[in-house]
Amino acid sequence: MKIAVCPGSFDPVTLGHIDIIERGAELFDKVIVLVMTNSAKKAMFTVDERLNLLRRCIKGKNIEVDTYNGLLVNYAKEKNAVAIVKGLRAVSDFDYEFQQALTNKSLLPQLETVFLTAKGENMFLSSSMVKEVCRLGGDISQFVPNEISNDVIKRCKGEISND
Ligand code: ADP
Repeated sequence: MKIAVCPGSFDPVTLGHIDIIERGAELFDKVIVLVMTNSAKKAMFTVDERLNLLRRCIKGKNIEVDTYNGLLVNYAKEKNAVAIVKGLRAVSDFDYEFQQALTNKSLLPQLETVFLTAKGENMFLSSSMVKEVCRLGGDISQFVPNEISNDVIKRCKGEISND
């Protein structure tokens, strides 16, 4: 069974993420969406909340959701994954993603990184952009799955906190 890991912060999951996850699930027998904590970013949703939001939008039978605190290659090894699946948006993603892919390749040579190009309409879509638009009262319905848009709106309005 060919397993791929799709890592990210997913704070919150966007339609751009969903597109990559679902396309990855067509290519591999199983995709594990891995919520990782990025200490450089202040999160809007806790890891448990992000897992819950993801679970509500993911439909594929061969897609699982998990979280991990350590090194991505160690997780991949533990799960016998053959690839990391990542979405590539504008050129601005490239430098960072290339660095990560090369680092992971030196740490675990048998693990491939597969880049799927973002759909045209998702090219400029990021979780940070969604949060900014939402905080300023903009319509986020075209950016996040229907199942979670109210949660994002409520959090942005400060109606529910993550403390
Ligand atoms: P963000 O940059 O939105 O905070 P993450 O760190 O959660 O996203 O990213 C997880 C993965 O999803 C990365 O590989 C990233 O390139 C990809 N991704 C994020 N947004 C999009 C999008 N709009 N289209 C395609 N891939 C995306």
